[in-house]
Order: sequence, then structure tokens, then C-alpha cells
Amino acid sequence: MICSFCGYEFNEEDGKKGCGGCPGGCHNIHCPRCNYKNPLEPGVVKKLKKIFGKDIKVKGGT
Ligand SMILES: [Zn+2]
Repeated sequence: MICSFCGYEFNEEDGKKGCGGCPGGCHNIHCPRCNYKNPLEPGVVKKLKKIFGKDIKVKGGT
């Protein structure tokens, strides 16, 4: 996946997943580079990105 903050590309496995303590409540992957909390992408979004390429940028809040 690509960090939506700094644009760094990394595997979900390489990122730090959530806090590890929330039962089903914490679905974020922290970027190994900037530690930004990226929301875990649903499978549907991944498929769309494969279709449309990498032009889609998810605009989050601040
Ligand atoms: Zn980042």
C-alpha cells in the first residue's frame, strides 16, 4: 500500500498494524517511514485501484 501522507510505498505486513489491543476496533496501519496512521484498505478499494491505476488519492482529513 502507499502511505497517504508521505507517499511511501510499503507492504501492509511491513507497517505497524493498529494498536494490537482493540478487539476489532483498530484497523490502521502505521507507515514505517512517517508513522502516519493509514486506514486499512478494504478489498474493494484495492480492486478499484488496480483498475484505475495509482491516480486515485484518498483525501483524508488533516
Ligand atoms: Zn508515511
